[in-house]
Amino acid sequence: MITAKNYIDGNFEETREFTNIVSPLDGEVIGNVPQSGEAEIESAVTAAEAAFPSWSDLAPAARGAYLQKAASLIEQHAEQLALIAMKEMGKPLAEMKGEVMRGVNILRYYAVEGWHANGDVIPASDAKTFQYTTKVPVGPVALITPWNFPVAIPLWKIAPALIYGNTIVWKAAEQSSLSGYELMKLLAEAGFPKGVINYVSGRGSKLGPLLVEAAAIQAVSFTGSDVVGRDVAVRATKRGIKFQTEMGGKNALIVADDADLDLTVDVTISGAMRSAGQKCTATSRVIVDATVYEEFKQKLVDKVQALRVGQPHDPATYVGPVSSHRQRDSIMDFIQKGTAEGATVLIGGRAPDDETLSKGAYVLPTIFDGVHRTMTIAQEEIFGPVIALLKADDFNDAIDILNDSRYGLSASIFTKSLQKAFEFVKRAEVGMVRVNAETAGVELHAPFGGMKGSSSHTREQGRAAMEFYTHTKTVSITT
Ligand code: NAD
Repeated sequence: MITAKNYIDGNFEETREFTNIVSPLDGEVIGNVPQSGEAEIESAVTAAEAAFPSWSDLAPAARGAYLQKAASLIEQHAEQLALIAMKEMGKPLAEMKGEVMRGVNILRYYAVEGWHANGDVIPASDAKTFQYTTKVPVGPVALITPWNFPVAIPLWKIAPALIYGNTIVWKAAEQSSLSGYELMKLLAEAGFPKGVINYVSGRGSKLGPLLVEAAAIQAVSFTGSDVVGRDVAVRATKRGIKFQTEMGGKNALIVADDADLDLTVDVTISGAMRSAGQKCTATSRVIVDATVYEEFKQKLVDKVQALRVGQPHDPATYVGPVSSHRQRDSIMDFIQKGTAEGATVLIGGRAPDDETLSKGAYVLPTIFDGVHRTMTIAQEEIFGPVIALLKADDFNDAIDILNDSRYGLSASIFTKSLQKAFEFVKRAEVGMVRVNAETAGVELHAPFGGMKGSSSHTREQGRAAMEFYTHTKTVSITT
């Protein structure tokens, strides 16, 4: 049983009100997280504001040394951190360990970023003038994160925010606030000066608006659902502060008539079923050329049927529980809607029969046949182990179906044709396009983000993050 704490101004603070964290593995309470309010947000923001001048004055490489220390500590405790996150939100242990190591590498990447150039010299029209650009930090920033990547997403915001000289107040999703606390303990051990990193737990609908509207906060980076993201964007716009909202997806994978079907089946399964389909880039719609539809469908069903559904600490498990019992109910509602609107469940669509899993939040890997592009299951983000199969008349029809979505996060095509590949890259209305690869899995140093309703059109990760966490200053010096 873990009792989490807020971390404010260099101290782990006692709180009076708590919320239970119920494990999706078996419905048991595994910990408590603080239920914070206005006072805690105010203290955290004040601490971040007070710490900003001296933190931003440090040389970037000196800030990087703290990130290196944090990376080593997290690496040393990777197993323990992954285990807590697994119990809290159900991700299979092996996958969770991979996520923790991604977090470690993100910290190392940004630590080195402190050594890189951050501006341009621009020739001036006057020979006595030296003109250049430099990047300056934004100020204290708010980071609001979802539960589905409880370690990697916070770190891909925290690391760039800090290296570019900002101080932070981080609020994790309630369902991942224990993992957040464990991560914060390791970050605290890295010895950041007090007030540079602050962590506050509580209900998002209460703390989120308080945080975005706190006068000292100069930017907010949010990842989560589109409904909440739009609210964050409106509040940030009203205050005139920077915002970044990375939201949902309804990611499609196109199977062209010349695709290598065996490879495509394997990659489709990985994209749709790893993390029980709870990745923003998970494969959700599979659009198959009519000429290979039946063959692909049969191969897919055969392999999905053989997937091992089980406890997340069992190394043989491919699909573990979803993140909570509430999440399971939401997925089951979508499955019911799919059936009610006329699609057919080929396999899955229910909880597993296995008695040992009956208390957990499990949904069997599910495949829908006969899905029309207008159906709810073809339009809404389900965030579960569910594939909607859609038949396309030809390549152009497949692209039309792909783009018939309010989301635009990621998409893939499987084809041997260079012409189709390039045409797809050009016409897919998404931020991340992949040819003969999974819709999920963008590398940590490549820009990450979507188009249309998936994103505020900013990008995270790699050097792209610098644009968000800094202002560009144009300098001209005349002698
Ligand atoms: P969510 O929107 O419910 O919550 C996200 C965060 O916002 C949490 O910390 C929550 O407490 C907080 N929050 C809730 N109400 C708020 C409010 N009114 N103001 C400010 N903050 C508030 O999302 P979730 O269920 O935690 O995560 C799943 C969603 O995240 C999915 O839609 C998924 O696609 C998306 N996601 C997107 C990306 C991406 O990079 N595009 C990555 C991972 C997850």
